[in-house]
Amino acid sequence: MGFVPTMGALHEGHCLLVSQSLQENDKTIVSIFVNPSQFAPHEDLEDYPRTLDSDLEILCKKFVQKKVDAVFVPKVSEMYPAGITQDVSKQKGAFVNVLGCSEQLEGETRPHFFRGVATVVTKLLNIVGPTRVYFGQKDAQQCVVIRSLVRDLLIDTEVRVLPTVREKSMLALSSRNAYLSEDVRQESSLIYQSLRKGELFYLNHRQNGKVSTKEILEQVKSTLVRPDFEIDYVSVNHPDNLDELEYVEPGVGAILSTAVRVPKRQDGQARLIDNIILH
Ligand code: AMP
Repeated sequence: MGFVPTMGALHEGHCLLVSQSLQENDKTIVSIFVNPSQFAPHEDLEDYPRTLDSDLEILCKKFVQKKVDAVFVPKVSEMYPAGITQDVSKQKGAFVNVLGCSEQLEGETRPHFFRGVATVVTKLLNIVGPTRVYFGQKDAQQCVVIRSLVRDLLIDTEVRVLPTVREKSMLALSSRNAYLSEDVRQESSLIYQSLRKGELFYLNHRQNGKVSTKEILEQVKSTLVRPDFEIDYVSVNHPDNLDELEYVEPGVGAILSTAVRVPKRQDGQARLIDNIILH
């Protein structure tokens, strides 16, 4: 059995995971659940796109020869029997923390995010009991957290990670791209272009041995400049434990990742993340 956990607002990125699961397993289950415990009180839980009808239609129409066997759409009260508030200090019940890889990068601005993710994924894996579970490389830190969770809590499933699906402009597909105007969406392709500049620098210098992180970051930051974009971080981290690296060694590699705030269609900012694996 293959399992694809999602928060819905399905796009081609989700569909890649589903299609791989259909190829590798007898049965495939997709879950759609906007998980309250991974949103901070000031974040976009209320606004997060909820498009269940069109999500079900996408799954039905796209996968015809071999169909998705079930779509699991739990209620909040089923996933959190003790109730759930976004104020961590008032929460009750059991939660899962994956230490060492949840605090940096995304964890710096979203301190309880991976606690929410690890908790809901544990619950979902306990309910579904899949042979394989599918995640996207787009959420690179999430993949590291989940691998660690499954290993450390001896959960009997294989974690499969698939490459990031991108628009023609190379902007990574994301449900949150729905917040962007067409212009900003186009301009946001700068995020990938900047990471790619860093990757090219690495590829051009790695034959001399290890490459300085500082120089890779300079390449990215000098490209990722737009008056209305705000960089949260650009970082180079170990691919397995997310430790910050001073140098990238060929053979070990690294995750080159960024989070950028871009203007929303209406008020406020959308936070977009992307990454490239340096080999
Ligand atoms: P979400 O619904 O955003 O929680 O995402 C559900 C799963 O789809 C996660 O494993 C994501 O990493 C994955 N995913 C989201 N966007 C993409 C993308 N552009 N390419 C590949 N996988 C993706």
